Amino acid sequence: MPSHVGSKPCSVCGDAAVYRQVYSGVSFCSACFKESIERRVRKTISKYGLLREDDRILVAVSGGKDSLSLLKVLAKIERAFPRSSLVAVSIDEGIAGYRDEALQLASELCRRFGVEHRVYSFEELFGSSLDRLVRGGELNRLGLGACTLCGVWRRKAISMAARELSATVVATAHTLDDIVQTYFMDILRGSFPRAPIGLRREGEGIIPRVAPFRQIPEEEVVLYAYLSKIPFQETPCPNAENSQRDMVRNFLAKFEAKYAGSLFAALKTIESNIRPLEGALKACQFCGEPTSRDVCRACELEIAVSRKITVGRELLRPYIGVDDI
Ligand SMILES: [Zn+2]
Ligand SMILES: [Zn+2]
Repeated sequence: MPSHVGSKPCSVCGDAAVYRQVYSGVSFCSACFKESIERRVRKTISKYGLLREDDRILVAVSGGKDSLSLLKVLAKIERAFPRSSLVAVSIDEGIAGYRDEALQLASELCRRFGVEHRVYSFEELFGSSLDRLVRGGELNRLGLGACTLCGVWRRKAISMAARELSATVVATAHTLDDIVQTYFMDILRGSFPRAPIGLRREGEGIIPRVAPFRQIPEEEVVLYAYLSKIPFQETPCPNAENSQRDMVRNFLAKFEAKYAGSLFAALKTIESNIRPLEGALKACQFCGEPTSRDVCRACELEIAVSRKITVGRELLRPYIGVDDI
């Protein structure tokens, strides 16, 4: 849990503070902290033009603390825009004993906020649950990690859902930490980020993805969920294996704890040096989703899984970067 400072007064209202924001020196009581998060999300949305007044917003909800917090904040903000609408989508990858709890939490919270909730499964979209592919040994034979396939298919599933539900924008719960981690992973693997993550990018056939939490540190999202009494899933995924991201996350968290404000500095510096992507996106030969190649990565993996062929070397590299988000 983030640092608690019970005896200090809230810098805004003078009540007992529950959190001190080290990078700004401001202390917050519970109510002022929650308000501050909501105000900063509103500010991020208007500063970067993430959402429009008549958007049909698809919120990707996994059932974890970040996505359930985003659902709460957006449900609150969206009320002020009568021409907009909100639909929550969860993807059921088919991970027994893990996903069921998260789906339950997501559907309860949607009911509480009066938000329509839809669930799409890998089974119906791609013909197989993740469990079956792991158990059947397909992923091993293909030299693919469960998280690699899962990440690519989840992204595709969200796009398919967005089209079916006529969403005009997809909102994801990526935080400041998530985005900086992804940029660092790109750089450590030898390529500079090609596009800013979570900013509205329009284009032929593209449903833009936005990250309203892009300026909120992860620990503040966790505290927001906790103070809002949002029940969220704490069990880690049994397939979790993202060791590279864990290393980068640990390093950045330690660095931020010692030098507060570093994550904001990194985000700003990296994004001000991103050069726009060259070459237009085209439609995938199989599914029509926008891609920089002839066949999108999700279809490529679907073909590989169904044919049980050996995946080429390039597929062995876990796929991260802007397309992951
Ligand atoms: Zn206060
Ligand atoms: Zn495709």
